[in-house]
Amino acid sequence: MITVIKNAQVMSPKFLGNKDVLLIDSTIAAIEDNIVIQSDAVAIEVIEATGKILVPGFIDSLVHVTGGGGEGGFTTRTPALNLSDATTAGITTLVAALGTDAVTRSLPDVLAKVKALNEEGLTAYCYTGSYHIPVTTLTGSVTQDIMLVSEMIGVGEVAIADHRSSQPTVNELAKVAAEARVGGMLSGKSGIVSIHCGDGPSQLKLLEQVVAQTDIPITQFYPTHINRNQSLLDAGVGFAKAGGFIDLTTSTTAHALAHGEIKCAQALTYLIKQQVPLSNITFSSDGHASLPDFDQHGRLQQLLVGEEKSLFAEVRDAVLEQNLALADALSVITCNPASVLGLNHKGRIEVGFDADVVLLSGPELEIDSVWAKGQKMVETGNALIKGRFE
Ligand code: ZN
Repeated sequence: MITVIKNAQVMSPKFLGNKDVLLIDSTIAAIEDNIVIQSDAVAIEVIEATGKILVPGFIDSLVHVTGGGGEGGFTTRTPALNLSDATTAGITTLVAALGTDAVTRSLPDVLAKVKALNEEGLTAYCYTGSYHIPVTTLTGSVTQDIMLVSEMIGVGEVAIADHRSSQPTVNELAKVAAEARVGGMLSGKSGIVSIHCGDGPSQLKLLEQVVAQTDIPITQFYPTHINRNQSLLDAGVGFAKAGGFIDLTTSTTAHALAHGEIKCAQALTYLIKQQVPLSNITFSSDGHASLPDFDQHGRLQQLLVGEEKSLFAEVRDAVLEQNLALADALSVITCNPASVLGLNHKGRIEVGFDADVVLLSGPELEIDSVWAKGQKMVETGNALIKGRFE
């Protein structure tokens, strides 16, 4: 597979200028002013991209690929992701997780789906573990899972400050984080601990206590849903300024926004104004999760399904509505999650990096074309390659 994308405005996510980008097999092979390749021996696809913006494929650090939910009973279990749900959203790398339900949902099922997505051309990983401590594992140990299963790069999402959590203690959470840390170190992975933050009043205190009382660094934790309400967002400001990573969830509902959730595009602007280091901020879609709305007694009111396309939609809104620089907004779904997750060949347009590329077109920054590991998955917004059962 050889592709030359001609004369695009290349953003690494930093602006590199108008360049030609050469993809050979699954790798970005060259970024030059003018690339001309002639060969009768191999097929070369040349894409004219004048006026289009070429950016890294998006990284979504939390997707419930086998479905999630179930908080309203069995009929509210959400469906599984299809390949094109990710690719048409510009997502070329994702990390899968179990959710609230680790009884009817299982790690073998998540891992099988992750393997299928990799076979279909995406780059997919997963977390071992689950919402509740003791966490569910594949081999009986978080450390072993991360060391021995190539797709498993961390643990989570472990729930804190939530009426659906196992109400974990400092000691319990520290043990899980320690296991993930060691497993990550011994296998050259991040061993990151994905943390689901609920709307409980303890917010991020449990993480702060683990960091204060143990030798585990703050960077081991990756709390998500930080834009759930203003008070949690402010706790996130403190956490990130202390060196921690914070993740905002792009999937939302009108009900959630009306009841205090902060739209990601606005939350990102707020965090930057609060002088939170941009490199410590990421977005994830929480795709295919349930989006339950509870009343003040914890009773389910309605339940929708999270969408992967919300990931870039919020980056686009940050640029078009909040006037953030495109390079800055892009970083929260490209180089920043790559760095947090320890994915060293992802998240940048750079020679030697994986050929995960999105072309954006027009003033509305529409997703035009998508390549995953050098394979064209989307053209003029439509999926060229679909999952087997789509
Ligand atoms: Zn969650």
